[in-house]
Amino acid sequence: MSTWSYIAVNGIATGLIHLVLFLILLFRRGKEAKEKLALAYMGISLLWVTAVTLAHLEDIFIPAVTDSGRALIPTLAALLAASQLASIAQFLEYPFWPIAATAGYTWATILLLATIYFILFPSNLLPLDQIGIFSWAALILGTTVLLAIGTFRSRLAFHRNRALYWLFTATALATGHAITLLPLGPLQTIGPPVHLIGAIPLTRGVLTFWLPNVKATLRSVFRFLFLFAITAALLTGVVLSVERLTDILALPSIPLTILLAVGVALIYLPLYQALVRLVDRLLAGVGFDPAQTLRDYSQTISGVLDQEQLAQTAVQTVAQVLDIRRGALLVASPTERGGLLLRPVPALGEISTDPVELEPISPILVRLQEDDAPLFQYEIEHHPVLRESPQREREWLRVLEMEIYLPIRAQGELAGLLAMGPQRTGEPYSPRVVEFLATLAHQTGVALQNARLFAGLQELNARIMQLNESLRTAYERLERMDRAKSDFLNIASHELRTPLTQIRGYTDVLADLARSEVLTQEQIARIADNISRPVRRLERIINALLDASQLDAGMTFRFTPTTLAGIMRMAIEAWLPALKERNITLNTYGLDSVPLIRADMERLTQAFSNLISNAIKFTPDGGRITIEAHPLDDEHFEVTVTDTGIGINSMDLGLIFEKFYRVGSIDLHSSGDYKFKGGGPGLGLAIARGIIEGHGGCIWAESAGYDEERCPGSTFHVVLPYHAHQGPCRWQRPE
Ligand code: ADP
Repeated sequence: MSTWSYIAVNGIATGLIHLVLFLILLFRRGKEAKEKLALAYMGISLLWVTAVTLAHLEDIFIPAVTDSGRALIPTLAALLAASQLASIAQFLEYPFWPIAATAGYTWATILLLATIYFILFPSNLLPLDQIGIFSWAALILGTTVLLAIGTFRSRLAFHRNRALYWLFTATALATGHAITLLPLGPLQTIGPPVHLIGAIPLTRGVLTFWLPNVKATLRSVFRFLFLFAITAALLTGVVLSVERLTDILALPSIPLTILLAVGVALIYLPLYQALVRLVDRLLAGVGFDPAQTLRDYSQTISGVLDQEQLAQTAVQTVAQVLDIRRGALLVASPTERGGLLLRPVPALGEISTDPVELEPISPILVRLQEDDAPLFQYEIEHHPVLRESPQREREWLRVLEMEIYLPIRAQGELAGLLAMGPQRTGEPYSPRVVEFLATLAHQTGVALQNARLFAGLQELNARIMQLNESLRTAYERLERMDRAKSDFLNIASHELRTPLTQIRGYTDVLADLARSEVLTQEQIARIADNISRPVRRLERIINALLDASQLDAGMTFRFTPTTLAGIMRMAIEAWLPALKERNITLNTYGLDSVPLIRADMERLTQAFSNLISNAIKFTPDGGRITIEAHPLDDEHFEVTVTDTGIGINSMDLGLIFEKFYRVGSIDLHSSGDYKFKGGGPGLGLAIARGIIEGHGGCIWAESAGYDEERCPGSTFHVVLPYHAHQGPCRWQRPE
């Protein structure tokens, strides 16, 4: 056969195989971006194979055809390199792949058009050959860099395997191009068959997401070559020995050959087996006995009742036989919506315990529920169906940095997942190891079920204790409230009777004096004054009772623009004589730092007046009251009323704002509005809270405790919005 016929047969055969690959990609339905890119690559490959073949068929075609073929090779190679860069960037999911694709394709297309132009109108204006080769080299370099980064940055073995797979494919493709760019003459036609070594895995890689284990395949090839070489060496040894020994021993060669062959055959089989074992051990890492490990494991976990301990035992068992860095138990519990909550119980490595809820229709959940097979992180990221799972779920699993999830079932239901991180060797889990892990997960089912039941019981117990505790506090609170209610009757009668007795006393005096007809103007004025004081007090008590009755129904407010300083001035003014009499100093700070506000001036004055009245009542003579105001955020400001009084018990801090609640003995109640420890009907703070909350604010008290000797004092905090509004306080009180 002459050279041209070899070239023609080679061209037609490689061209046809490229065409088949092209057609496979073309007739695939529902093409994704990667398939379209591969299709474009294969289309250009067809042109390139044709150009390479035509360039060397000088014996058949006229020079115009072969020259055109030759001129097109570098440009088409550059176009192939551009297409390869785009595909690899997309396969490795670099987000910038469309930019790389557009730039590469644009440049290579310009080059192609220029080449066609110069074929039609020959000239030596541009060294297009060199430009083509240079562009090809630059684009291949770009692809290599992307692949190197891809391999380097993949944390998980299957991801690294994917990058390796593309590295291998891209190398074979680029070698194919390179052969046609070197000055090899007709040998350039070796390029297309070499290119096929990459084109076939390229098509396979596009069609299925599970890629063969590159390292394992290479290992098998290496193993085969190694054993092949040893066998060949032995046989050669026999042949050479026969030659030598015939001369030395002067024996006939046939019996000697038989003798040597029998001798070699005797040692060959055991030697071969020993070598296979040695190679396997050297290449596949340390072996372990899965059956023994699993037996030990099932014995250890039979008594485990705690989820943390179970996770530890399972992951440590795996870590003893495989070199892993991360591992956790993901405990599953069904949600009300029909989804599944996965809660990690970390066992090895830094793992967040934040749970995730898998949606009821999530493909990941469906896969886990319907299929007992282990789920790989690689599948979650590359399987066409699993990729459709909610982004939140995929992201949560990605951050876990696990390589494999093994379903754990209890009574047929998915009870959890055993999640294992990548092996330190960077190897993907071998089928044997996956089977071992799956059995281990299977054995964990009953133990996990028990641990979950136990955890549920513990939780229930804790909840019951908590409920008991809150019932006890609620009971205590109710008891205090009840006492307050019954005390109220005593207080109310006391509060109302005192001014009434005074009024009756003075009216009696007035009647007696009227009868004696010796009443002077001055006496009348004094008696009238003595009557009007208890009347005013009666009025105040009745008003307080009326306000309190409004608290539940909801107070009505009239919000108008006003100032805090103005409100406070009015609230304080009424208490100036009392402050003077009790020798208590009152200072204000920062009132002007609060700008114009919108509030019910009268009601706020009433609320602050109640706070000041309490501060006076519960502070011994000579004490100090401080009122401070300061802005909190864009929406709120705070006012604090601090006294140096007797303080409040921590138990009472939350209760004093309740209606009719008051601390201390009712005997201490008196008609004095500002007498030391003189309580009122227990409504002042309830009304103040109603007013403050009606403005969209909040109020609370702080005190180091109740102590009449040391007087630790109390602070009442009031937070108000600049613009009063209905509804709850929007300010978050710091813990
Ligand atoms: P009262 O009409 O009895 O003053 P309040 O609702 O104003 O009712 O207050 C309820 C209880 O809170 C008071 O009886 C008192 O024990 C306690 N209290 C209120 N303010 C203070 C304060 N500044 N210092 C100590 N105790 C206070």
